[in-house]
This record gives sequence, C-alpha cells and structure tokens, in this order.
Amino acid sequence: MSLVVAIDGPAGSGKGTVTKMVAEKLELINIDTGAIYRCVTLYMIRKKIELTDIEKIKEMLKSINIELRIVNKDNIVFLEGEDVTKKIREKDVTELVSSVARIVEIREYITNLSRKIAEGKNVIMEGRDIGTIVFPNADVKIYLDATPEERANRRLKQSIEKGIDITYEEILANIMFRDKNDSTSSVGTLKQADDAIYLDSTNLTIEEVVDKVIEIIKEKCNK
Ligand code: C5P
Repeated sequence: MSLVVAIDGPAGSGKGTVTKMVAEKLELINIDTGAIYRCVTLYMIRKKIELTDIEKIKEMLKSINIELRIVNKDNIVFLEGEDVTKKIREKDVTELVSSVARIVEIREYITNLSRKIAEGKNVIMEGRDIGTIVFPNADVKIYLDATPEERANRRLKQSIEKGIDITYEEILANIMFRDKNDSTSSVGTLKQADDAIYLDSTNLTIEEVVDKVIEIIKEKCNK
C-alpha cells in the first residue's frame, strides 16, 4: 500500500526545504509540483508560446518531456533532457509561472502527470492544490503558512545562496502577486483542504517544522 503526504501552502512557506528533509528522514519520494509548472513556463518562454494561444498549448502538452530525478539526494528537473533545475528558479519564470498555472489545460496535464509519478510509491508531494485536487484522499494533509514578510526574507536568503540577482522588494511584490493570483482564480485555487492541518512556520526554525511534520505523519499513520 502506498502513502501520500500532501504539503500545500503559498510561495516561501518553507514547503520545498521541509518536504526535502522529511522525505530524506522518512524515505519518501519527494515530488515538487511547482517545479513542473515552472518547467512548462520555461518551455513557453523559450518557444514564445502566448498564454492565450490554447491550440499551441495543447500541441505543446502532447509532446513536452519533463522528468524529475533524484541525483545525490538532490531533486533535479529535466526539460527535454536538459537539466533546468536552476533556470526554472530565475526571475523570468518566477514572474510568469502563476499566470501559466491558471490555464486549465496545463493544470489538467500537471495534475495527471503528478498522479502518474506518484503511482504505487510512498510520496510527499508539495504544491498548492495537492490536498484538494491532486490527492483529495491523501493520507496526511498539511497546509504550511508564514507571513508574507517572513516568506520574502526566506526567499531572499535562498536567492543569494543560489546566486540569483533579486531584491527583497522585488521578491515581496512577486509573493503578494502570486498569492493573489493563486488564491483568487477559479482554477487550482491555493486553499487549505477542510481536513488539512494548518501549520504556521513564521516563528519556527526549519528543524522545528520538520519535527512537527514528522510527528503529524507518524500520528496519522499509527491510527
Ligand atoms: O512552489 P512554487 O513557488 O515553485 O510554484 C510556482 C507556481 O506554480 C505557484 O506560484 C503557482 O502559481 C503554481 N503552482 C500551482 N499548483 C501547484 C504548484 C504550483 O498552481 N500544485
């Protein structure tokens, strides 16, 4: 029997780091659905596909090749065989991705792909709609949150570490824009599932959040 842990929450809530650490500790496969949305966005930028050109988008979805692989414990993202792990975090992709994620055809494609990747495995999957749409029957659902300012601070730290040239103000503005875009649209809304556990990480260290998540998973699984 497979186990599905759904971790949802807004940009910068710590989902990525927490999910990776919990996956390592509990030997779960870590699936980052945001990375898939970012890959599709990068592809559209490169191929100059307009957000309104649904015919071209449908064509793209028939052939686009996205792979998530774990290499030396790191999640590596391949687009058409190219390692784009770093490129999908750059400013052009980050600015466009939440608009790309509003396209129904793209959401359906990524929802199906995410389910397929998880099939028969023990997974921890992070995104916005995992507990509501992708896996409404997930064994464990957690909604991870933090204040926008704290989330912007965390993203700034990560960006500096990754050598991405961006300011705190730009990050905060992007986070506010994406929060609004992700939570007010009719498709794939960022919203806590009724049966998800809410976890505010604003004043917690990463280790504290990881411990809390593991405690919740163990508690649910022992029932
Ligand atoms: O998690 P990350 O910030 O990398 O996600 C990038 C964008 O992808 C989000 O702002 C959101 O618009 C979109 N997304 C989504 N549904 C998911 C995962 C990501 O709409 N399950």
